[in-house]
Amino acid sequence: MLDPQTVGQIAAGEVIERPVSVVKELVENAVDAGARRVEVAVCRGGIDVVEVRDDGRGIAPDDLPLAVRRHATSKLRRAADLERIATLGFRGEGLASIAAVARVTIVSRTRDAEIGARVEAFEERVSEVEPHPAPIGTLVRAEGLFENVPVRREYLRAPATEFSRISAWLATFALAYPEVTFVVVHDGTPVWTMPASDDPSERLAMVFGREAARALLALDGAAALGSGGSLGGFISAPGNDRPDRRMQHLFVNGRLVRSASLSGAWTAAYGGFTTTGRHPYGVLFLRVPPEHVDANVHPTKSEVRLRYGAQVFDAVRRAMVATLRAHAAERFRTSTGIEREDGISFALPPQAIDARDLLQPELRLDGGSATLAEGDGKPRIVAQLARTYILAADDDALVLVDQHAAHERIAYEAIVRAARAGAPSEPLIVPLILELDAARSIALGAMLDELRSCGLEIEPFGERTYRVVATPAGYGGKAFDLAAFLDDLASELPAADRRERVWATLACHAVTRAGDSLTHAEMAVLLERLRACENPMHCPHGRPTVVRLDAADLAKLFKRT
Ligand code: ADP
Ligand code: MG
Repeated sequence: MLDPQTVGQIAAGEVIERPVSVVKELVENAVDAGARRVEVAVCRGGIDVVEVRDDGRGIAPDDLPLAVRRHATSKLRRAADLERIATLGFRGEGLASIAAVARVTIVSRTRDAEIGARVEAFEERVSEVEPHPAPIGTLVRAEGLFENVPVRREYLRAPATEFSRISAWLATFALAYPEVTFVVVHDGTPVWTMPASDDPSERLAMVFGREAARALLALDGAAALGSGGSLGGFISAPGNDRPDRRMQHLFVNGRLVRSASLSGAWTAAYGGFTTTGRHPYGVLFLRVPPEHVDANVHPTKSEVRLRYGAQVFDAVRRAMVATLRAHAAERFRTSTGIEREDGISFALPPQAIDARDLLQPELRLDGGSATLAEGDGKPRIVAQLARTYILAADDDALVLVDQHAAHERIAYEAIVRAARAGAPSEPLIVPLILELDAARSIALGAMLDELRSCGLEIEPFGERTYRVVATPAGYGGKAFDLAAFLDDLASELPAADRRERVWATLACHAVTRAGDSLTHAEMAVLLERLRACENPMHCPHGRPTVVRLDAADLAKLFKRT
């Protein structure tokens, strides 16, 4: 049997890694105690002193010696309670772990007590409880972190580094507790104060930086989860991103956690909205019934298991997509001046996407070109540039549309819409027969089933030769270069839905290339159809379709500013 002191240090090692771990345990206790104001004062990055003062419900004198005992908690009584934890703490080892590696003093007073009480604890020793004057609430002070564990002390960084971890953690944590005021003091100097506020912008600016915080969109998660759950948060608008995922924060029932599966939801949601290789940022607040979360995965509780994780993943992804779409629609309107009518995309018949169709007047929407006519403040199509861009202008700005990206988006949504409606594949009247080299032939052979599930039916037709029999509804059944299609498909980045990759690649191969000259009427119809898309601002690969240069942008080019 190990002696109790050794047991204490081993257990503490899991919970208390550095000063920020002490801050985390103490601040979480303060929040669990219903505090409305939490002050964190540290010296030398928390290595010398961490002090957390709160105005919560306090600890009764009789309970003080218990609070620092391992496995003593007021938040849980029996194993069954583990099924529905509603507090941040529950393991009863925060204070005990801190006391195993630092000298702890607690001064606390409950609401109905005349005077407070004080206790000291270090390693296995707990002092007598003594009366001590104090305001209502609790003050916990931890001094000399790891002085009794020299190896751990060596892993500590410079005080400034330790402090920045504390400050960053606390600022992030504060996002989920707008009703609580947080104050941070370092070496006697107030560093920042976050007053309780309904307006999240200050707290967001603190965590993400002012500029990046301005690009955040409020997540519309109202419809995401059924009763008993809720989803909210802020997510970056497409085009604003970070080189890594560190700025994707997640709270599950008020607990700041990591979740590999939910960072996958970010990737899946932004697939069609942002150029790949970089990452969106923001914060999600997920609430689910306590019995659907298991936080008892790791001593620091920084990971959780979710029951119904797949449904939650899907709900998060869909809420993000809906938010990004609404934003894209709004930007399309402000970029082009074209009003979108809601639901118009569903009113359209599944469209063929042959460039020639663009000439057929009956495929035009009502007022197709009238919307783009001159003299009414709406954008006018001026010209096609370099056989690549549609140049339009309204009274305030130049509007450039990448014709290929725009057409790709239109074609892609036509396929997706048909698939959603359950339309069967369309057989080719004249099957397309293509011979491939050995490598591509093997690759294609392995993918036939998957392609069929996307509506693209291809059959072997002799050695290294294949026959395209049917294409997805909405695609229009045109010929395409199978070899180039396979190459592009292989280089597509993984999207949430494998079918989306196939459709995006197919759309790309079916449409107007850069280099095709377009008539005025064709350009008008292209813009009309783009307007009807769910996500008109990006091609299916996430590249922009529309760029607007307003007076301010032009002033920069002319160095007027
Ligand atoms: P846990 O938070 O898992 O219960 P801790 O060791 O962190 O374990 O705290 C032990 C107990 O001490 C808590 O259950 C709570 O009753 C009490 N306690 C700790 N900090 C505070 C505080 N700031 N205010 C009120 N009670 C507290
Ligand atoms: Mg605790």
